[in-house]
Amino acid sequence: MKLTTESCAKTDLLSIVIPCYNEEDVIGETINRLDMFCSALHDLETELIFVDDGSQDNTYNILKKSFFKYNNIKIISLSRNFGHQIAATAGIDAANGDAVVLIDADLQDPPEVISQMIAKWREGYDVIYGVRVERQGESVFKLATAKSFYRFLNRLSDVPIPLDTGDFRLMSRRVVDALRAMPERDRFIRGMVSWVGFRQAALAYKRAERFAGKSKYPLRKMLRFAADGIVSFSIKPLRLSIGLGIFSAALALLGIIYVFTVRLFSNNWVEGWAALMLAVLFTGGVQLISIGILGEYIGRIYGEIKKRPLYVVSEYTGFDKNSSFFTRSPVDNINY
Ligand code: UDP
Ligand code: MG
Repeated sequence: MKLTTESCAKTDLLSIVIPCYNEEDVIGETINRLDMFCSALHDLETELIFVDDGSQDNTYNILKKSFFKYNNIKIISLSRNFGHQIAATAGIDAANGDAVVLIDADLQDPPEVISQMIAKWREGYDVIYGVRVERQGESVFKLATAKSFYRFLNRLSDVPIPLDTGDFRLMSRRVVDALRAMPERDRFIRGMVSWVGFRQAALAYKRAERFAGKSKYPLRKMLRFAADGIVSFSIKPLRLSIGLGIFSAALALLGIIYVFTVRLFSNNWVEGWAALMLAVLFTGGVQLISIGILGEYIGRIYGEIKKRPLYVVSEYTGFDKNSSFFTRSPVDNINY
């Protein structure tokens, strides 16, 4: 949906999109750091788009206060918690910039790295994604699982997805427009951006520790996110079930040949319920795995065909009357 009152042609506006969920401990500091960063940029206008992803703590109030203090802050309040990727999508949708940066609210991605991204963008790159060369303050478990996940995903995926990247990235206007045209629900933004193409460059940076607060990605959400990454970008798991099927059928065939041979050429043939049980359990297992894989895809098809909007916004704050912005949500309240 395009909300337009006259569009004004501005050159070189940088939008910074910051999804926030229960970030009251850190958000004040994030606003300060981003403001310092923006004031140091002389040749770019900036807008900071905070997306409050249904926080239950004080995040919204802190954002609202800073809206009155700074003149480049915009706030999108979602009607409930929709998850990081959707919150980021709501922000990217509403961004008007010639370049859009997506950054976490917890200062793990240092805002200062954005200047290097801008330099690369000026060189003509469309996407500059941050690659984490070092991650501070993460558990050994998270580091190890993240590392093997990205490698595994790349083996499966039909589009190469750069290793060790998060969502911290700068995207040019044409990449953002392409993203806006992608309606899918299971959003794995870093993969979607790879799919869009254009000139993409990597930028190595040190991922800092969370400034304050706790990670909002518990193991359950991480697994779900990993499944989204795999299922949205590959149909290889479906082929895997064919492979498993062929494997177990071949095994069964060997078994049959063996059984017949012993029966015909010896006196001690297989008596075996044990062999039978093994075969039943094995094929049963393989079938259940395959049905589970099918279920993952069918569940997603079901989600897609309902065609619900990706998010619902309860309030847009600070959006300029004279500019246009894109939203996928029914709009209830716009505070200019
Ligand atoms: N986030 C969000 N909605 C959620 C979970 C997280 O908007 O449901 C935001 C969160 O506020 C942060 C970013 O997404 O700005 C990344 O989350 P987090 O730092 O918890 O993830 P991690 O860095 O531990 O992977
Ligand atoms: Mg974080």
